Order: sequence, then structure tokens, then C-alpha cells
Amino acid sequence: MTDNEEKNTTAAAPTDFIRDIVREDLATGKYRPEEIRTRFPPEPNGYLHIGHAKAICLDFGVAKEFGGKCNLRMDDTNPGKEDREYYDSIQEDITWLGYEWDGEVKFASDYFPKMYEFAIILIKKGLAYVDDQSAEEIRATRGTPFEPGKDSPWRNRSIEENLDLFERMKNGEFPNGSKVLRAKIDMASPNINFRDPVMYRILHEEHQHTGNQWCIYPMYDWAHGLEDALEGVTHSLCTLEFEIHRPLYNWFLVPLPLQHKPRQIEFSRLNLNYTVMSKRKLLRLVQEKYVSGWDDPRMPTIRGLRRRGYTPSSIRNFVASVGITKFNGVTDVGVLENTLREELNHEAPRYMAVLHPLKVVITNYPKGQTEWLDAVNNPEKEEAGTRQIPFGREIYIEQDDFKEVPPPKYFRLTVGKEVRLRWGYFIKCNEVVKDADGKIVELRCTYDPETRGGNAPDGRKVKGTIHWVEASHSVSATVREYDRLFKVPEPDVVEDGHDFTENLNPDSLHILDDVRIEAGLAKLPAESRVQFERQGYFVTDRYDHAEEHPVFNKIVGLKDSWAKIIQKEAGK
Ligand code: ATP
Ligand code: MG
Repeated sequence: MTDNEEKNTTAAAPTDFIRDIVREDLATGKYRPEEIRTRFPPEPNGYLHIGHAKAICLDFGVAKEFGGKCNLRMDDTNPGKEDREYYDSIQEDITWLGYEWDGEVKFASDYFPKMYEFAIILIKKGLAYVDDQSAEEIRATRGTPFEPGKDSPWRNRSIEENLDLFERMKNGEFPNGSKVLRAKIDMASPNINFRDPVMYRILHEEHQHTGNQWCIYPMYDWAHGLEDALEGVTHSLCTLEFEIHRPLYNWFLVPLPLQHKPRQIEFSRLNLNYTVMSKRKLLRLVQEKYVSGWDDPRMPTIRGLRRRGYTPSSIRNFVASVGITKFNGVTDVGVLENTLREELNHEAPRYMAVLHPLKVVITNYPKGQTEWLDAVNNPEKEEAGTRQIPFGREIYIEQDDFKEVPPPKYFRLTVGKEVRLRWGYFIKCNEVVKDADGKIVELRCTYDPETRGGNAPDGRKVKGTIHWVEASHSVSATVREYDRLFKVPEPDVVEDGHDFTENLNPDSLHILDDVRIEAGLAKLPAESRVQFERQGYFVTDRYDHAEEHPVFNKIVGLKDSWAKIIQKEAGK
């Protein structure tokens, strides 16, 4: 299954309090459907991750469901280096997730001139002033939740003086940090965000988009609501930490000549266990080479998940299943894995691949002969049909599927016992061939020609069925088996003097470089998802896979093995 074949399998989004608000706004006639507008505002300083996917599915999803539009706005209010890489990847990832933004990509910095004009309006209304205090002084006089802050000595400057100083700030007459523009609200407000928040700071730095045009840059709280208003955003959806900023978001909009007033609504962030999601930490994993890059299949980035084999619909369905609430919580990463597993169980065609090959010679099968057996491609999906697989004198089975000294209840192959080859015959092991070190290098078996297709005419039963591939037609492949990147549920939580990288799972990647696969698997295009029978789900690598050298990444196992391990550890 490739993305192009991917059906639109996203479950209808369950409703939630945000969708209820939009529905209400339509019902009361506050907005017509085509007026509904949301925005997704990433800061282009990193790659998008699964947490962003939650915001994307919500922002774009709500707009789409109600007949509105969603803007993609690069939140570039902080000057920084041009990072084309991030800017491009953000767009590519959103498109891959199945969403489309309205019109051109927007930039917060496009509104700098308008914001400057608006700031002048606030100054003229006596609602903003230039403060000469340093950042430390401002912090020190802000007060605490229990005590009021202290008025700045510059708080009562005249409007004329403020206008003059603000213009000179913009013109570059003052050094970094020497002045700020602050809103004049209330230094005793119980909401600390109302204690004369900073609107502009001086930074003589080149901006990735506006170059050296500006040396004053707006703060988030001042900028965000204006951007939303100027774009006609009706519902500005953001994460819960902005809830306490909402009164300020609204306060800034009131005195300005804006035709449209957006509404900010907060929802809880997505947190996953066994995962870190802060951009700073993800960047460290890349820079310090704990992973191969932003798209390493162990990374929680959209492109890491993509390379791991996640489908856009599995991510959308996962986000829908987590739901939109006001309560912060931690979601088990097993839920994400399970969403994909369920989808792949229905969609992914099944093949046989032997990860740790052991050669088996069928001594009573004629040399040089090949026959073709029918194999069902997906028992969960009849229309997937059947394929023909070769059988011959030499086959490979999994090393683990043979034991010279079988443990109790071992139903696979052992000397003197029979096992069923999937879609094939019963075989019986007669002899074990070892090398000088005593390592088993080959089995000599016989097959029962009467059991073709997997049943004996005399009704004799075998308990075990194992997968296999015929040796001469099989192809060698590389398989990368991935495990969780972190070995503890909360990798972020570390004691003083320790670092989250100490929680990395040292065993999260195994490379198997002589896996024997059915030849048809090599011909699959990149990003094809399949099941290897009895092993799990695998995807042909987006970059490295080629017919001459097939490369598969393990997506997930057939069952949630971690749930079992955790239960075992808990003594259940
Ligand atoms: P950082 O604070 O690490 O710079 P950020 O999470 O604020 O990153 P942005 O690029 O500003 O990153 O995020 C864009 C949008 O994605 C924001 O609206 C933000 O609320 C949302 N978002 C980010 N992380 C999550 C998350 N874990 N769950 C839900 N939404 C998220
Ligand atoms: Mg941010």
C-alpha cells in the first residue's frame, strides 16, 4: 500500500467543544460557512512533529468540515537566519497529511508595517508608553501572583514624548535593550500578563524575510491577535498555555480600527510517553547524531513517522481518537502504533520474508525443479487476491523456527517432527548439519507430496505453521528494525545534573543485512507497506530502497509487545 493508493479512511472527526462553538456561530448567524477561517502558525525554526499534527488536523480539519478556509502563516516575528529547509518541510508535511491552505503562505512579518501603525494608535490613546528600564528591571518590578508590580518611572511620559521616542526606536537610534514599548494597563492586575506587557523590543538583527528594514520586533501577545484580525481569522485555535494570555489578546483588539475581531480558543497539547517533543531537544538529537536526521524513523517528526511507515490517515485517525479537550494528559505511544497496526491489518498485503535465514534442503524433492503454489495476499481483504510463490528443493526458514532441543509446547520444527510450511507442504526434519563451531548451518528435511496446500489427506494434524522462502528465487534485502528511541515513559523528567539523552534506548536500531524475501517484494516502489507474515509490518524505505538492493524499515510488530512487557514488569 502506498500513499497514492491510500483510501480516504479518516473516521469522521468526533465532535468536541471547539466544533460545538463553530456550529453555534453558524447557527446564530454570527458567521456564514464561507467566512469561517482558522490558521496554523508554525515558527519556521524546526520540523513539524506529531504534536503539530494535532494542531494541523484541528485547524485545517475544522475549516474544511464547516466549509471555511485555513491559512498557513509562518510565525516569523523573531528575527533569525533564513531557514529555507524548515520553511519547505513545513509545507511538504502539511500537504502530505492531506491538507491545503488557502492562497499563498502568509508571514507574520508581512504585518510589521500595520502593527507599527496600530502601536502608534495605542500611544495616541494613552495606552502604550516607551520604557527605558532594562529587561531585568522590568522583570524585577513585575511583582508576583501575590503582590502587585511597581509602576515604571517612565510610565507617565507624555503622548508626544512617547510618539517621538517610539519613532526613534524604529529608526534605529537606540541600542538593543535600551528601550521597549509597553502597553499601559495595570501593574496591580491579578493577571500578570496585564502588568504593562512589552509590545516591542529593540533588536538590531537581520530578519529572514524583512532584512534590515526593522530593528524593533513585536512580542507574541501583541502580534498574534493582530495577525489573526488582519487575516479575518474567526477561530484562532491554540494550546492551553495561552489561556491566561487570552484577556490580553482581546484587550489589544478593542481600541484598534479593526473590522473583524477573532476569537482565541485553547485546547490541550498532545503529549506522548517514550517521546520528546520540544524542538530544542529534537534538534539536539539530530545535531549530536543520536539519530540519522530529522527524518530518522525513530523521530516523532512528521517526516520521521512517514519514513517509519505511518500513513497520513493513520496520523489523522490517531489525532481524532485522542480528541480535543481542555485537559492536559499523556497519551500512550502504543495508541499511535495501534491505530496504524489496525489500518495495516486491513490494507497491507502479506508476504513472506525470512529475517534470520537457516537453509533447509528437501532431500526427497527433485533437483532443479520448481513448482508454484497459491498464496492469499490478505485474508482480511478478499479483493487483494492471490499470488503464486515458488517452491523447490532448497528453502530458507527462520533460525528461531527450529530447535534441536525443543522447549515444552514448542510446535515449530524439531528433529523427527513435522511442521507446515505456510501455503505449502508438511516437512519433517531428519538431520542437522553443523559447522566446526557447532553452529547449525543447514537442515535436511523431507516433504510429504500429499500435503500440498497445507492439509494431509489422512487427516493427520500438525500444530505449527512457519513462514519460509524458496532459496533460488529469493532476493537478499536489508531490514532495519526500530524500537522506541527512549527506554523510559517520561524521558524529559531527569534529576538535576542529568540529561534527557541518558534516557535514550541504546538498542533502538538493529540492521539485518541478509534477509531473504520473496522476489516480488523487491519490485515494490518506495514507501510501500506490507506485512511480513508472523513478523510485523514493514515499509520500503523512502530513499534507500531499490529493486537491486531492497531496504525495508520495520513499522510495528503484529502485536503490542510493549504492553506485554509492561504488564510483565507490573507482575500482571
Ligand atoms: P516551541 O515552543 O518548541 O518553539 P511550539 O510548539 O510553540 O514550539 P510552533 O511552531 O510555534 O511550535 O507551533 C505551531 C502550532 O502548533 C502552535 O499553534 C502550537 O500551539 C501547536 N503545537 C505545537 N506543539 C503542539 C502539541 N504538542 N500539541 C498540540 N499542538 C501543538
Ligand atoms: Mg511557538
